Amino acid sequence: MKKVNGTNNKYLKINLNDHSWSVYQISDKDREKYLGGKGLALKIYYDHLKEGLSDIDPLGEENILIFAMGTILSTGAPCSARFEVYAKSPLTGLLFGSSCGGPFGEACKTAGWDGVILTGKSPDPVVLKFNHDSVEFVEAGELWGMNTEELDKALSMSAREASAVIGPAGEAGVLMASIKSGHRFAGRGGLGAVMGSKKVKAIVARGFSHKMEPVHPAGFKKATKKLKKYIHRSEFLKSYRLYGTNAGVRFGIKSGYSPVRNFRDRYHPAVEQTSGEAMAERYTTRSSSCRHCSINCGHKGHYKDGKLHQIPEYETNGMFGSNIENYDTDLIIEWNDLMNSLGMDTISVGGTLAWAMEAAEKGIRKSELEFGKFDNISQIINDIAYLRGEGRELAMGSRWLSEKYGGSDFAIQVKGLEVAAYDPRAAWGQGLSYAVANRGGCHLGSYLVGMEILFPYMKPLSLKGKAEWAIFYEDLFAAMNSLQICQFTGYGILAEYPVPKYIPPVLLRPVVAFFPRLSQLLMNWAGLSQLYTGLTGIKMSQKGILRAGERINKLERWMDFRMNPAGMLDELPGRFLNEKETKFQGKNTVVPLDKLLEEYYLLRRYSAIGEVSESDLRRLDVDL
Ligand code: SF4
Repeated sequence: MKKVNGTNNKYLKINLNDHSWSVYQISDKDREKYLGGKGLALKIYYDHLKEGLSDIDPLGEENILIFAMGTILSTGAPCSARFEVYAKSPLTGLLFGSSCGGPFGEACKTAGWDGVILTGKSPDPVVLKFNHDSVEFVEAGELWGMNTEELDKALSMSAREASAVIGPAGEAGVLMASIKSGHRFAGRGGLGAVMGSKKVKAIVARGFSHKMEPVHPAGFKKATKKLKKYIHRSEFLKSYRLYGTNAGVRFGIKSGYSPVRNFRDRYHPAVEQTSGEAMAERYTTRSSSCRHCSINCGHKGHYKDGKLHQIPEYETNGMFGSNIENYDTDLIIEWNDLMNSLGMDTISVGGTLAWAMEAAEKGIRKSELEFGKFDNISQIINDIAYLRGEGRELAMGSRWLSEKYGGSDFAIQVKGLEVAAYDPRAAWGQGLSYAVANRGGCHLGSYLVGMEILFPYMKPLSLKGKAEWAIFYEDLFAAMNSLQICQFTGYGILAEYPVPKYIPPVLLRPVVAFFPRLSQLLMNWAGLSQLYTGLTGIKMSQKGILRAGERINKLERWMDFRMNPAGMLDELPGRFLNEKETKFQGKNTVVPLDKLLEEYYLLRRYSAIGEVSESDLRRLDVDL
């Protein structure tokens, strides 16, 4: 076993055109400025393609696909067995990172590589197998065409090996195709289609020949211990451990963020049947999580066929439950399994089906799909993956469909990415988070619904402080996705936040809203910088972590504007801006996006259309 001080600092670069490979060295300067994971993937993309950003066809050979391992992966740090998949997305036409907690990450990192860069396009379908010093290009043969379950079996990997694979949807170029590793997914943005366009069916890493050793073991151990303590003390994270992300269902019922009938209604009494608590009882669930996780939000449960099945995440549950007026969780489990084996993002497929149901109801597009009718859903999911019949159009996503047929007000997407299962009319900050996220309708950009409803430290229907907190979390999460520590550890950090501990409840919300900077100063995320410094030996402060996050967010946005300016509209679907009346019994509102954006742009130093200036990038030490 070779001991590595800190990180490997090299990527495996594979040229698929001629089946050759080389070593791509990461400089100390880039490691410091971009941290790892998402940040380094972005910088590598920039260094390879900065001259031709406007001419990249996402499914053309010029797009590059990067698998970027987390900096702290395979070190014993909590919730850190994660990696980022990064490329220009065929769904949004913008840069896109998708994080995955599957076993490929650890195998790749312990094979001596901090990541893999795929360039070009293989002439024939191929499986890539690599270890620390060799790469095999194996003809995919009959593996091409297999679903992800069949493929993992056929690859018959040893205990030291792990894979990242695509299913039939990725091969067919479905814009919502995902990449699977173990039972976890890089789900969003259609990156499975990018892998398929390169004719790569699977990448198999043979690892566990290298061991990461912190440069400062004592500091690293201390930071690990601290973060684990935060996680284990958090009452909120206990609910994730017990009920998974579906612990969020009951919050949605109370607050009115549940997606019901293509986000029309915000409430239905039967949503309770899909709660994490109801599913835990019905399926006697148990943990089934990403590797080395201290939270364990993933679950499996006993299904009626007597076997253990993956319990769908909150997002899948919402999109294939209340959003299409289905309250039968058995069906959601079956469809989830099906989409996972075909390799498709459940959020985008669900959002697209709901659009098609409403479009059919309004008579603007013919379809067999109907709210409350489920006998044809499995068939249509298959048809999308294989581009058959109506599935051929649905595979293009809700933005494309609404541009062809009309109905953009109820195409619930931002920048082409279908929105996740939180209705932002219940939490205005979440509306801002969706609108400004570089990757589109992503719930994880700044995830303000956390501060507004899950930890109710801010009034959800208020403007005050929202822009400032959105910026704070966008930068913190960009840095976390670069270290690749799961964003959910952020709840552990939030649980230790001294402001709610020492300020009486009546003053808490005003303090957080009116003094956001001061409140943020009292938050302690130093565990992250201490992990980074302890592992790499590179000095990093708590403030430095946020600055790296800002650099990453802004360089990505600057590149997106060069790549596809028309696609960079920070907007929300008309439904969230204009349709006030819903079936929710609480306060009905729309999102005052213009006001939120005005303050956000000002604080972010963006132009009136949300563009980053070159001088701002220079201020952040970006070398253009
Ligand atoms: S909390 Fe959930 S998503 Fe995060 S690392 Fe653990 S299992 Fe994976």
